[in-house]
Parts: sequence; C-alpha cells; structure tokens
Amino acid sequence: MDTPTGNTGEFLDVSPWVAAPRDLQPALSADIRADVVIVGAGFTGLSTALALKRAGVNPVVIEREFAGHGASGRNAGHLTPTIGKDLPTLLMMFGKQRATQLVRFADDAVRHVEDLLVEQRIDCDYAACGNIMAAVHPKQEARLRRSAAVAAEIGARVRFLDHREVRDRGVPPAFISGVLEESGGTLDPGKYLAGLRRAALDAGIKLYERTPVHEIVDGARPCVRTSGGTVKADRLVLATNAYTPALGFLRHTVYPLYDTLFETAPLTPAQMSAVGWPGKEGIYTAHESLESYRLTARGTILGGSKGVRYAYGSALESGPNPWTLGLIERAFRDRFAELADLPIAHFWGGPIAMTLHFLPALGHTGAGRNIYYAIGYNGHGVAAASAMGPILADFMLGRKNEHADALARFVPPMPPEPLRWLIVEGMMGLLNAVDARTDRQVRDATRAYPR
Ligand SMILES: Cc1cc2nc3c(=O)[nH]c(=O)nc-3n(C[C@H](O)[C@H](O)[C@H](O)COP(=O)(O)OP(=O)(O)OC[C@H]3O[C@@H](n4cnc5c(N)ncnc54)[C@H](O)[C@@H]3O)c2cc1C
Repeated sequence: MDTPTGNTGEFLDVSPWVAAPRDLQPALSADIRADVVIVGAGFTGLSTALALKRAGVNPVVIEREFAGHGASGRNAGHLTPTIGKDLPTLLMMFGKQRATQLVRFADDAVRHVEDLLVEQRIDCDYAACGNIMAAVHPKQEARLRRSAAVAAEIGARVRFLDHREVRDRGVPPAFISGVLEESGGTLDPGKYLAGLRRAALDAGIKLYERTPVHEIVDGARPCVRTSGGTVKADRLVLATNAYTPALGFLRHTVYPLYDTLFETAPLTPAQMSAVGWPGKEGIYTAHESLESYRLTARGTILGGSKGVRYAYGSALESGPNPWTLGLIERAFRDRFAELADLPIAHFWGGPIAMTLHFLPALGHTGAGRNIYYAIGYNGHGVAAASAMGPILADFMLGRKNEHADALARFVPPMPPEPLRWLIVEGMMGLLNAVDARTDRQVRDATRAYPR
C-alpha cells in the first residue's frame, strides 16, 4: 500500500520482520475441549502456552491471523529492562520496596529471553549491546542524571554516560549524553517469534491460526466462539494485549495507542562510516514521547515511535497517518543529518497497550475468576511479555512467584469516553508540544553551531 503523503517509503500491512508462515496451522473447525484456551499468539500467548505445557497442563492457542501478526511481529526489537514511565516516577509512585521488585522483574525478563534464545536455539540476530536513553539537548540531561541516581537506589543496572563517554563510544553525534541500560540489546522480533512458535509446535501445543475469536462466553467453563467451532476450557487466557478491549474485556484497564516505525534502505559503507555507531546500541531519546533508533542485521536503520495516536472509544487504528509519518521522518533527518540522501524504504505500525500506572496488568476476571490476563506492556513488551508466560502459569496454578506478587495488583481505571479521549488527547497534545519545543531548540543550536 502506498502512503498518501509526500513521504518516501511504502506502508507495509504488517512489518518487514514477519510474513504468514509456510506451515500456517489449520483454522479451528470443530467444537473441542482443553485444560486452558489461550487467545492470541504473540510473546504472551506463546510463552504462556510453553510454560503451561511444561507444567503438565494442555493449552490450546487461538490466533486471529498467524502467530506474530500483532505487536510481537511489528515492534522495533529493543530488548530492554524498561519498566514504568521512568525510574524516578516508578520510585515516587510505588515506594522503594515495590519499585525494587519491579526493577528485578524487568531485569529478570531480559535474562529470561536471553536464556530462552539459548535453550530453544533461536537465532534472531540478538546483539547484547544494551540500549541508551539519550539526550538530544542539554536540558534533557538533568532528568537522565536523576534517573541514573534512582537506578542505583533501586537496583536497576543502568548508568549515566556523559558527553565524553558518549563520544568515546562513537554514538551518532546528535545524541549528546545518556543513560545506558546495560542488560539487553536488539534482536529481530520476527525471527524470535518464529522460534517461539516452532518451540510451541515442537512441544505438541495445538495452535489454530486464521481463527478470529468472535465471542468469549464467561462461566464456570469459559468458552471461545469462532466461525469454525468452539473451545471450552477450565480456564481462559487473554493474551491479546492492545486488542483486549475490542474483545469486550478490561476496557478500563488498558487503552491502545497506534505506534509507527520506519526502516531505511541499507546504508552504503561510506554512509555507515559517516554515522559511526560501532557499539550498535539501541537508542531511544529522552523526549516525553520518545524516538527510537537501532541498526539491523540488514545494515539498515530502524526507528520511529514518536507521534503515537489514540482513536476515540479505544478503537484499533491501522494504516498510515500523514502527520505521524512526517513527524518521524523529520526527526530521523534531524538526528542523522549525515544521511540526508538515505531513503526510507518502508513504514508500518501496530498497537501498544497503555495503563494509567505504566505497568503491565496481571490478574483474573469473569464470573468464575477463571479468565486470566497479562496485558498492558506500555510499548516495552519484548522482554516483559516473553517473561510473563512462566509468571502467568504460576499465578494460574497457585504457585508462589515473586514477580506475580509484584504485578498482580490494583490498576487505576481509565475513565469512560468522552473523558478518556479528552484526557489522552490533552496529555499527548501537551507532551508533543514540549517535544516540538525541544526539537526547535536543537535545530536552532545546530544552525548556530553546526556539528
Ligand atoms: C510499533 C511497535 C514498536 C514496539 N517496539 C518495542 C520495542 O522495541 N521493545 C519492546 O520491548 N516493546 C516494543 N513494543 C511492544 C511489544 O511489541 C508488545 O508489548 C508485545 O509484543 C506484546 O505482546 P503480546 O503477545 O502481549 O501481544 P501481541 O503481540 O499484540 O499479540 C496479541 C495477539 O492476539 C491476536 N488477537 C487479537 N484479537 C484476537 C481475536 N479476536 N481472536 C484471536 N486472536 C486475536 C493478535 O492477532 C495478536 O497476534 C512495540 C510495539 C509496537 C506496536
């Protein structure tokens, strides 16, 4: 599909990472029973299925399109221990003890993925290069220094990089200082997801693809209805993240935002040496609404994220938005002035699920309290959603799990529409205005003192 704007690059239906698998699993075509029925085959659904299977429980997974069609196959592939809005806010909102528990969860989540890649022999171009939250203007530094100080207090493995250290690492020049998250790095989420899917199929987990769930019937034994058949189970798992409100559940817990990314054409050797970036760290900016950038194994730069959008009624948006495409392309041109001739090959997007307290929501609902969920990763779910499988499995099976204790707590409810729209639009309008001012200041400074 072409973008109806002046922007370069076509708009992809899903992402450059994934395509329908060659061994697409057959759609559900009968009425069946299972111990547990999981709706959604992204990181949450597949990791939960694997953990349950390991615990001797028989799960069935139902996926509307194919595994990875949701955010898990569309993201930017930053594997990060990011948790909460930022570390100072995490400490302020939850106090030292819980903030420390949450930081431990986020750190363990990254380690969980790293172990899984080894255990399941998944080659997904993982680079353990860390991620840097970077300042693009000196006024952003104070917040980053505060973040690093709080990190030391609550056990997060991050440290401040001053201007000299950032230059010594060869990070592209627009990024003037930062906070380095030492654990994690970048990966190819499509290959990672394909590895998880293969592991699930090899473990004998029944996966039904091209099977949209039309209705979930709550009750002593919840039932999933699709056009080809039904699944009745003792328990049900909603592994549908941003798509959950559209299924009629947890409308006050999460709200979807539409996030857009781009990928450039491959860099020539001359362009690559102009950029530098030898450590290949993932980068996101210290804006209120962050920009993200990373190198890929294809020799391209992938980025975006700025300009997320909310649709009235928590509707799921899709497709290109000229304002967002313009915004993220302009930001890329500002940050990588040395790549003025590098074309953007394509854009794409997907939904992220936000919560009011910026933490994932884990719990159970329904008349029989047998509809379980793990949703609301606030755009940082590559590690967290992958780690949620064993946590959710323990939570369902009544086993002790320290991370479940930290996560299965009260989530502040979103107000109904139209108040919700007014709050989200108002908040995002304000944050975008703050960011636009920062970007203007960066441009003015660059004009006055060219790099
Ligand atoms: C553009 C973008 C960039 C991102 N970048 C990063 C990043 O760099 N790092 C990071 O940590 N996180 C990132 N994220 C967030 C991360 O991708 C998500 O938090 C994570 O993938 C959530 O996984 P999930 O399995 O819970 O949900 P999803 O992957 O969204 O899976 C839900 C599944 O449910 C299926 N489904 C929905 N409705 C139905 C239905 N009615 N019937 C059957 N199936 C249904 C969907 O098709 C989908 O496959 C990004 C997200 C987006 C959209």
